[in-house]
Amino acid sequence: KDFRNDVRPNWCPGCGDFSVQASIQRALAALGKEPHEVAIVSGIGCSGRISGYINAYGFHGVHGRALSTAQGLKLANRNLTVIAAGGDGDGFGIGLNHFMHAVRRNMDITYIVMDNQIYGLTKGQHSPTSAHGFKAKTTPSGNIENAIVPAQVALAAGITFLAQGFSSDVNQLVRLIQEAIQHRGFALVNVFSPCVTYNKINTYDWYKEHIRNLDEIPDYDPTDRAAAMKMVVETHGLCTGLIYKDEHSVPYEDQIPGYREEPIAFSDIHMDPALFEKTLRAYA
Ligand code: SF4
Repeated sequence: KDFRNDVRPNWCPGCGDFSVQASIQRALAALGKEPHEVAIVSGIGCSGRISGYINAYGFHGVHGRALSTAQGLKLANRNLTVIAAGGDGDGFGIGLNHFMHAVRRNMDITYIVMDNQIYGLTKGQHSPTSAHGFKAKTTPSGNIENAIVPAQVALAAGITFLAQGFSSDVNQLVRLIQEAIQHRGFALVNVFSPCVTYNKINTYDWYKEHIRNLDEIPDYDPTDRAAAMKMVVETHGLCTGLIYKDEHSVPYEDQIPGYREEPIAFSDIHMDPALFEKTLRAYA
């Protein structure tokens, strides 16, 4: 079960996304998955390239729409392990509306965000998760907007699995991704994944100094939603580990009346050729 392929990532040396790629590959292998059982769907951005760097089905879609495609895939073939991946701009900027609805819909997919608090592919503009006062090419005098805190938004929208990782802690990240994939419902793993080229503020050292690791708090209870929200607010979202898990989560697919066990992707679809032709012409 080798999830590596021959494509060499063209990320900058030191980019946090390398660790995320390796963690996904290790997590899938540890779970005993086969490449043909997994689909990676990504959006646009440096991190969006990840779907081409993992030996599995890959779909590199349009900006902010990874979750739409991932949900469609899961509905068509519920036997697939579906992972959506992308950056903070892709997921919490243009894709925020899709994110909110994917959270409340609770389909059984895993969403991994490489959050570097900047737009890297387009060379250094402030992003939705850039802090107030953050200086970037588009905010030379400092960002006058407040940042989105993804964990806070996710909890407010009713997420059933929420974890955060850090590119410097691969062992924790592998474990979190494994748990996210095993969770029955929508799981977010938001990863602090530094952009070493354009973000000179939120560096590896900065995260090490500011992150609170929940693994080091023995009495933290990740099944307590109110405690999870309190932790996220107290740390301004800068905490890693399993933040919240609803152990009674029932995925969307399981609630569809009459939903067949046989994936739609494998169903025989019979359509009268004349009707098919007519339908095509109607939409031409
Ligand atoms: Fe990574 Fe930033 Fe380079 Fe993009 S620009 S590959 S996010 S380090």
